[in-house]
Amino acid sequence: MADSFKDVTVTHDRDNCIGCGMCALLCPKYWSMNPEDGKSDLKGSQKGKQLEHRKVGYEDAEENQAAADACPVDVIKVQ
Ligand code: SF4
Repeated sequence: MADSFKDVTVTHDRDNCIGCGMCALLCPKYWSMNPEDGKSDLKGSQKGKQLEHRKVGYEDAEENQAAADACPVDVIKVQ
């Protein structure tokens, strides 16, 4: 994980999300489950070609890192 006092960028490889729900459980401020396809959404993110991404303040980096660590298919990155 990046320096604990630096803002970070969180990315989500949504195509490969299996919809387990761990990110939304551990970090509901930033993650929610989408009822339409059962995958998670990174709230407030911009959609790239495949990746959702957004900046996150350092105070919320740890919670997003917990979601990344818990993701069984490793599709969340906190950098
Ligand atoms: S923890 Fe990973 S696989 Fe599970 S819903 Fe979140 S992004 Fe998808």
